[in-house]
Amino acid sequence: MDIRIEKTKSPKQIPDFKGPLGFGKIFTDHMFVMNYTEGKGWHDARVIPYQNLSLSPASMVFHYGQEMFEGLKAYKGKDGKVRLFRPDMNAKRANASNDRLCIPRIPEEDFVQAVKTVVEVDSDWVPTEPGTSLYVRPFVIATDDFLGVAPSKTYLFIIILSPSGAYYSSGLAPVGIWIEDEYVRAVRGGIGFAKTGGNYAASLAAQVKAHDDGYSQVLWLDGVERKYIEEVGAMNIFFKINGKIVTPMLSGSILPGITRNSVINVCKSWGYEVEERKISVDELIAAQKSGALEEVFGTGTAAVISPVGKLRYKDDVMTINGGDIGPVSQKLYDTITGLQNGTLEDTFGWTVTL
Ligand SMILES: *Cc1c(COP(=O)(O)O)cnc(C)c1O
Repeated sequence: MDIRIEKTKSPKQIPDFKGPLGFGKIFTDHMFVMNYTEGKGWHDARVIPYQNLSLSPASMVFHYGQEMFEGLKAYKGKDGKVRLFRPDMNAKRANASNDRLCIPRIPEEDFVQAVKTVVEVDSDWVPTEPGTSLYVRPFVIATDDFLGVAPSKTYLFIIILSPSGAYYSSGLAPVGIWIEDEYVRAVRGGIGFAKTGGNYAASLAAQVKAHDDGYSQVLWLDGVERKYIEEVGAMNIFFKINGKIVTPMLSGSILPGITRNSVINVCKSWGYEVEERKISVDELIAAQKSGALEEVFGTGTAAVISPVGKLRYKDDVMTINGGDIGPVSQKLYDTITGLQNGTLEDTFGWTVTL
């Protein structure tokens, strides 16, 4: 794929990486853009100065939500090299989302090339402080100006970049999680496995409720029986029960996290038995009561590993591992972040150095 590069004439001030960067608030100097037109395919790949879009208010994405997004990070190690973590997996998942949403596929190698190229152009924006990274947000929107319900014939594929602060400013900190027993996020046959805005719109009401009660995230139950554990807001969920690592199997309503896949592989390489299966909230409560539930943690690109110290289900509030970080959670965090920033040798072949 040919990518035209047009550099900005008025570069912004790169923020002080030692200061608070927060998440998703600061954007770099450039963005990647590519158009799709029916009959012509994807065309006009370019890196251009970061700028607003001009779209018709009738653009289909505004009305029926035909869009998909991805999320990954670029890391700058002590060696000064910029690394991406398994970007081929994001490219594959983007197409799984595209297929479900009737968005044309993007060739995997073009997706990865686009990410690499725009990150390379803005590589001075990859922060260097421990725990910081450049968040990469690829997304596709439907742009036909038409109010009928049908797949759009035109799209934009865009990648924007945002330097982000450390998720944990003072070491790994356990979070409290609200097991949602009223609202559901997704059902099998729906769009739960796709990374798309609609899933997040559907999650807000429960998130607000959980926040109001002092819990940081929602843990979803299955949409049919509200009995089986699915996943957390933007993370997959893992349990250590009687020495085994257990996580809900991918049933079609759960987002197939890349961190989830990495954690499964790393745990297996350490000799743990890993079970991908159905796990009911009743089994979880029983395991906690008997002392078999040793650790709970979420996995996702943002936090990598998010230890869970407290789980609320209806009137039950369960404290996990005395509210402390478990040893497996800590070791997984150290290992995966070590691969990402190049301090550990990558025996898995997961990192892509620019
Ligand atoms: C992105 C996402 C995850 C985590 O996926 P990673 O690839 O590990 O970042 C989990 N659940 C949902 C709903 C998500 O959108």
